[in-house]
Amino acid sequence: MRKTKMLCGIGPATQDWEVFKELVNNGMNVVRVNFSHATDEERRIDQELTIRARNELGKNVAILFDTKGPDLRTCDFENDSIDFIAGNTIRIIKKPVIGNKERISFNYPQVIDNLKVGTEILLNDGFVRLEVISVEDTNDDNSGVTCKILDDAVLRSKRGVNIPGVDLNIPFISEDDEKDIQYACEHDGDYLGISFVSSADDVRAARKLLEKYGRGDMLILSKIETKKAIENIDEIIDETDGIIIARGDLSVEVPFIQVPVLQKEILRKCREKGKICIVATEMLKSMCKNSRPTKAELTDISTAVFDGADAVWLSDETTIGKYPDLASQYLGEVADVAESHCNDYKTKYSISNGHDIPDLIASSVVKAAEDLNVKIIVAATMSGFSAQKISNLQPEAVILALVPNERIARKLALNWGVYPIVTPEYSSTDELVTDAINQAKKFMTLNSGDKIVITGGFPNTGSKTTNFMKIEEIK
Ligand code: PGA
Repeated sequence: MRKTKMLCGIGPATQDWEVFKELVNNGMNVVRVNFSHATDEERRIDQELTIRARNELGKNVAILFDTKGPDLRTCDFENDSIDFIAGNTIRIIKKPVIGNKERISFNYPQVIDNLKVGTEILLNDGFVRLEVISVEDTNDDNSGVTCKILDDAVLRSKRGVNIPGVDLNIPFISEDDEKDIQYACEHDGDYLGISFVSSADDVRAARKLLEKYGRGDMLILSKIETKKAIENIDEIIDETDGIIIARGDLSVEVPFIQVPVLQKEILRKCREKGKICIVATEMLKSMCKNSRPTKAELTDISTAVFDGADAVWLSDETTIGKYPDLASQYLGEVADVAESHCNDYKTKYSISNGHDIPDLIASSVVKAAEDLNVKIIVAATMSGFSAQKISNLQPEAVILALVPNERIARKLALNWGVYPIVTPEYSSTDELVTDAINQAKKFMTLNSGDKIVITGGFPNTGSKTTNFMKIEEIK
């Protein structure tokens, strides 16, 4: 039973029920709606597909809404693409335009004032480099800079732009971001992805807005994609609910040769601090065009699993790729193979339990499950907390979480190895234990003599009260 969770961006390639259904059946746990791209109509379609999957397929599919943040992007292009040809020139102007091979604009025109002759501009995660060769000093909207194109590539509209070393002076949460966060709150979002986080203050600012719009419970996933975020990684992990290692932007903001090591370090810190960690971007990039992945991509997915990722993520592969269903299938299958070798290759982190009772119970549960070769741990959890604690230790057993409602079930969609089921509230510990055994038997084949470990908090107050553990033998 797969433990690694799968998060997929939804876009033109997957905004169709038959394709979307394939992704869900291949194990997609979370749908990513990217506010940088999704129009109002697309957001509506993505949410309808997700709700349909929950209702018709009975799957616990959650939604991540992902802010634009101070995310510098190109404008839309005529016919949705421009053929960049090395050696040619192109202007970047302040006035918003529909781009063509002569001129483009950015979503934050003020950035152009900070460009100098010689500045390097990286488009689409650095695949197209532009070098500023002249700066026009008139101050009207039609003015801008002229750049020499250094690489050949065909790019689609709204590609990411990075200008390393230049202070872009863009607010972390713009008016548009606030509207998008409000949208996420009003449309039953489960996770808020915040782009270009640079400090714990940024995370707090996003949380304040979630509270303002009545969804202080929504989990925040901070995207690590700048040098500043790397410098402040500890305080960000302390403040956030989870981390997305956004390798695309990160690899143009810091020297890309450092990204594999940064990925390992961030994963270790997230495990040690008990936070969700997702490895993102280019996991199966070649499958945007090809029906078979490269061998390096297969190794990349396995490495993420062995290094302790809760989830792996597809973006272009499933939003605009040619083989979204196959990409999600292979992502899952490679994770399955890696998981079957976790005993040999998975990194074991030293996680300190201190004197915190839920932490101590979680580690006792995992130790007992491992010593007794238990296949399933059942965690009765009002807030999702007990299941999260156990999941963080990444045991071999699956974790069946008995939760009070769908929203809590979806809050656990990204935690490694957790399968949530909504059950009625229990009125005594005995009732809870009896139902835990029944639910475990319904969930998987258990033979007489098999042991299961049950944990939870009782009485249920909805707060974080993990306080018991019980080992039961199946009769
Ligand atoms: P994006 O973030 O998909 O919003 O660009 C991911 C990344 O930069 O890797």
